[in-house]
Amino acid sequence: MQPASSDRTPATRLLQVKETIRRLENRHQRIPGSVRLLAVSKKKSVEDIVSAASAGQRDFGESYLQEALEKIDALENENLCWHFVGPIQKNKTRQIAAHFDWVHGIERLIVAERLSTQRPSRLPPLQICLQVNIDREHSKSGVQCEQVQDLASALQELPNLELRGLMAIPRQTSDTIHRRRRFAQLREMLEQLNESGFGLDTLSMGMSDDLEAAVAEGATIVRIGTAIFGARTAK
Ligand SMILES: *Cc1c(COP(=O)(O)O)cnc(C)c1O
Repeated sequence: MQPASSDRTPATRLLQVKETIRRLENRHQRIPGSVRLLAVSKKKSVEDIVSAASAGQRDFGESYLQEALEKIDALENENLCWHFVGPIQKNKTRQIAAHFDWVHGIERLIVAERLSTQRPSRLPPLQICLQVNIDREHSKSGVQCEQVQDLASALQELPNLELRGLMAIPRQTSDTIHRRRRFAQLREMLEQLNESGFGLDTLSMGMSDDLEAAVAEGATIVRIGTAIFGARTAK
């Protein structure tokens, strides 16, 4: 995908990313409209989000809780759907349960239990994805492949969460075949869960750099930051 150039607004780039997704759906025999675009706006301004929203974007992803809460508050009247995509510490669950619609990085039962308990009863169930450490990296987040089935079973018992599917962030590599293989493995894992009775419909995979491989292998949510909002400055 082309790097975002600075003379274009998030609204313009968003429309281009959507166009790219439509083209990829077509190229890889996906049903038109079956890939949902999550605009990852972490470290980007409220103005940037407003720009993307003006082009019709509703789903936004954030990784840093404090920053996210300020944006959610400022954009209260925009009717946006907020996805938490960062790692979750136990002491952050109450705020996440109260202010987000989706959480993509569930990897520990204790965190999920807290989110379920703390989900306000006036809100619908929190939509969650189980994060898989698909590359078996020690440093990476996510559960090992062998643990997916057990954790998924436990998550399904939690009353105020709705397990929707799996999420992964494959290791950064220029080896596109490797990346595509990893996405295929995540899809196969989801298929296995569904064969054993789960009714999961979500594969959250693919970022600015590996969008095509993810769409080709069945992503239903792609999480795109840089291609919409431009590069983030180092933390
Ligand atoms: C930052 C982030 C993204 C977006 O990455 P880009 O490369 O900027 O598209 C996607 N998913 C997660 C979990 C992220 O933290």
